[in-house]
Amino acid sequence: MSAHILVVEDEIQLAKFIELELKYEGHQITVAHDGMAGIAAARELHPDLLILDWMLPGISGIEICRRLRATGDKVPIILLTAKDEVGDRVTGLDAGADDYVVKPFSVEELLARVRAHLRRTQEINPDILTFTDLHLNRSTREVYRGQRLIELTATEFDLLEYLLAHPRQVLPRDRILEQVWGYDFMGDSNIIEVYIRYLRLKLEANNESRLIQTVRGVGYVLRE
Ligand code: CA
Repeated sequence: MSAHILVVEDEIQLAKFIELELKYEGHQITVAHDGMAGIAAARELHPDLLILDWMLPGISGIEICRRLRATGDKVPIILLTAKDEVGDRVTGLDAGADDYVVKPFSVEELLARVRAHLRRTQEINPDILTFTDLHLNRSTREVYRGQRLIELTATEFDLLEYLLAHPRQVLPRDRILEQVWGYDFMGDSNIIEVYIRYLRLKLEANNESRLIQTVRGVGYVLRE
């Protein structure tokens, strides 16, 4: 499961380490090094999960939690804290954090918590398919690239939904035809190229990175 994770941590080395480990797990990472930049990024980018250091220059991690929750933001938040006292943990959870990891922590522990929280989000809302900054809602049939709402035709939507349901898997052309256009499709199989081109134009309208890659002679894959 690929997600966009915001890491707010003022220790540059630690932030870099967390970023690399999460990228290795296939996630897209944004890093902020102070409280103001952190809360701005959280509000602007709508990440799927926040890893938030408690002690930050400017606004503390706790204060970021409080402010996000006060505006109804339900993003899962994992607090990083050097404080290992029960009272502080309660303060963190009271402020709206979902979990906390006490420094120094093992990277396996942090990754396990990240997986658990992302899984929970997915279970709560199985209608939402996400890949990096691309979000598709099966029930409202809305698609977002970051904060940009993308208007898709019914077929474009079905094609994108199929790709999003199989991230990083190379999907052969005949399988895409069967799944999106149906077994009885008798038309020109070049229809896939045409629709992939439409989708790319819409998904990359603001010069965003390409997410639908061509695998020559085979088909297509959703990959960064
Ligand atoms: Ca700190």
